[in-house]
Amino acid sequence: MHDFKYRDNELYCEGVRIEDLARKFSTPLYVYSSHTILDHFLKLKKAFATLKPLICFSVKSNSNLSVLRLLVKNGAGLDIVSGGELYRAKKVHAAPSRIVYASVGKSRQEIEESVKTGILFFNVESLQELSLISDVATALKKQARVCIRINPNIDPHTHRYITTGTVESKFGVDFDTARIIFLNRENFKNVQFLGLHVHIGSQITQVDPFLAALRRICRFIDELKRMGVCLEYLNIGGGLGIIYKEEKPQTAEEFAHRVVPVLKKTGLKIILEPGRFIVGNSGILVTQVRYIKETQAKRFIVVDAGMNDLVRPSLYGAYHEIQPLLKSVTCDKNILKKSDVVGPICESGDFLAKDRLIPWVDVGEYLAVMSAGAYGFSMSSNYNSRCRSAEVMVKGSKFYLIRERESFEDLVNKEKVTG
Ligand code: PLP
Repeated sequence: MHDFKYRDNELYCEGVRIEDLARKFSTPLYVYSSHTILDHFLKLKKAFATLKPLICFSVKSNSNLSVLRLLVKNGAGLDIVSGGELYRAKKVHAAPSRIVYASVGKSRQEIEESVKTGILFFNVESLQELSLISDVATALKKQARVCIRINPNIDPHTHRYITTGTVESKFGVDFDTARIIFLNRENFKNVQFLGLHVHIGSQITQVDPFLAALRRICRFIDELKRMGVCLEYLNIGGGLGIIYKEEKPQTAEEFAHRVVPVLKKTGLKIILEPGRFIVGNSGILVTQVRYIKETQAKRFIVVDAGMNDLVRPSLYGAYHEIQPLLKSVTCDKNILKKSDVVGPICESGDFLAKDRLIPWVDVGEYLAVMSAGAYGFSMSSNYNSRCRSAEVMVKGSKFYLIRERESFEDLVNKEKVTG
């Protein structure tokens, strides 16, 4: 599943002892395994081999340039959601013909830049956005290619903040709106309608919601055919769940086994946009214990990583396994005690684990917050004027600093003092 394993009670990433990285680069520190990243990418590629899909890694899940370059070099395209992500895509020399762009709020400037770059297509999320894309393409005397993002109104049974394909969510257009768009397609000058896009949510552990959404989409594809609309692409988004605790998510093969026959029938070129599946279990956040506070209710383990470094527990109540870098061999240390692992931030919501049974830990000890490779660093912030952490990529027995820790100077260098 991943390359973070104990050897003689010490946690390693591939061939590198993680405590050495913590001492060298200090903490909090993100550590990624390049082998795990590639392994997950290749598993998906292999499972879908008969369809030869374009797998566009979802940049928002982990946007570090080295992570992107690794995947692009190995054949991935990129799924972007902003001008900033387009900039990153160019930095890692992603072929424009392998970039797709979703987001409900694309700006004129972002659309212009993407049309000039010649990205494969926009995943269009509203009628007004489509009109703007048409205006921009016409003004630039270029063609813009689009897929219409369908909101199929399917509940993916995941956290409500990462549910994106029900009527209550802001994403995509319903079938009626999509029908109107296709009926009026001639009105959108300089726009080529290449296909449909659907992304119903993230951390989806069962295949059924995907299938339910695809069945609705396939019926719509047939209807469009009858209307004389021939499509080229079906983009089925991302959303594959991973193991954080005891989930039993479908494997890539199980997922492919169920969806490939449905996709084959469409005869369309297929695009996948996985993020979490590729990087989620490929990264950890290493943190050091600063203080232990015992109260009548529980024990607080105060560490140097906070919600600004990893917001998922605070934002979604997400569970991340917490493991010591050095496993204790003495029995008395292994007595479990109800504990909160909390950060230094001035919010009660600043926690990495709540009411968790954790063995004794000492001040100064290092802990690994597991499965932090997706929506970890990419959602981090400078809240409480904290410098964002460093990131390291491990390849076999080598390691590379792929992002330096921010400095206090970085915190203020765009600010001006007035008055
Ligand atoms: N595609 C789109 C349009 C998304 O919004 C997202 C995530 O929110 C993804 C792909 C990636 O999802 P995941 O990381 O669950 O695979």
